[in-house]
Amino acid sequence: MSAQGCQSAPVLRERGQREVFCGLTSIVWLHRKMQDAFFLVVGSRTCAHLLQSAAGVMIFAEPRFGTAILEETDLAGLADAQDELDREVARLLSRRTDIRQLFLVGSCPSEVIKLDLEKAAERLNAQHGPRTRVINFSGSGIETTFTQGEDACLAAMVPALAATEKRQLLVAGALPDAVQDQMLALLSGMGIEDVALLPAARAEDAPAIGPGTVVALAQPFLGDTLAALERRGARHLPAPFPFGEQGTTAWLAAIAAEFGVDDAVFERVTAAPRARARRAVAQAAAPLADRSVFFFPDSQLEIPLARFLTVECGMQAVEIGTPFLHRQVMGPDLAAIAPGPTLSEGQDVDRQLDRARAARPDLSVCGLGLANPLEAEGLTTKWAIELVFTPVHFYEQAGDLAGLFARPLRRRDALRLEGA
Ligand code: SF4
Repeated sequence: MSAQGCQSAPVLRERGQREVFCGLTSIVWLHRKMQDAFFLVVGSRTCAHLLQSAAGVMIFAEPRFGTAILEETDLAGLADAQDELDREVARLLSRRTDIRQLFLVGSCPSEVIKLDLEKAAERLNAQHGPRTRVINFSGSGIETTFTQGEDACLAAMVPALAATEKRQLLVAGALPDAVQDQMLALLSGMGIEDVALLPAARAEDAPAIGPGTVVALAQPFLGDTLAALERRGARHLPAPFPFGEQGTTAWLAAIAAEFGVDDAVFERVTAAPRARARRAVAQAAAPLADRSVFFFPDSQLEIPLARFLTVECGMQAVEIGTPFLHRQVMGPDLAAIAPGPTLSEGQDVDRQLDRARAARPDLSVCGLGLANPLEAEGLTTKWAIELVFTPVHFYEQAGDLAGLFARPLRRRDALRLEGA
């Protein structure tokens, strides 16, 4: 492998029709993470339906997201829409006194009619703050993909964070609680306590930020959040993302080096979970070895996952498509991927489908909309969206991560055997 890997490989840039979910989807995992927040989508009935179906069969005694429906009449009178929004928010907050953070989430309809949610958030903050902080961000499907909802949400929170000079580690990116606990235990084992988290579970635990803050990203789709943190003086710690044994070790090693953790301590803390993760990956990845994989741009996890699948599971990447290629964030993962695959940014779906048909990869990682047509053509697929709804980070999930990709190949192999 060259020292640079794919870091300076040419990128095919495409700007055509795309097949991705919109940023409202992020609300499904964000509302679980932020326990005193409410996400009020300012959108149409389509947006309400998307949220309901993305949230699946979850039943809440007190739901923490909802939709303020823009009716057709709102298109004619923006002033009415703002008044209606104020009434809706007042009703919600008087009924739900537990809400400390209210997110006004923009949508395609609110953007098309140019409803100014920033102004609305300012006005509502004056009315309902400081008890409830009102923040706006966009979850619209215009020029975005679904993980950008989290990026937009976290980036919108940054300007209001308190200031601190303290030297500290901040981990940005929503992780399932069990995975977050594993991460904090590893860091604490290395002597790094008191880790700031964005997002925090509750508004009162929101991190403070400043020039002593070093940011480790736990999710690769947080380019705007990182830029917002840097504007507050924080510094990015580049590292591969913590997927698989090697990704997790490299991510932790970057933090250990930054905070002066002794090599022996690092070894003591990581040796056992590393060995477990290596064993689990070796076992789960057997069906992946020497198989080819093609990534359609969808979740923005594509580049770190391509590193995991090629370096740790023995797969060969044909094409690694990603909605946005953020070199500062993706650099360390790109450097670890051997040259060869086509790197593509953005999408022109028909042209990309033609490339996949020509390559006939063993596995295509793609959005829900493309999976059925590709399966009908005899190609094996993995839904990219599953990867953001399943715990996949850090050592204890490394085997499960390999297993997620191995399962469709196993199923296909079993069907072939039955048909033989
Ligand atoms: Fe559809 Fe746009 Fe609403 Fe998302 S925000 S559900 S893409 S209309």
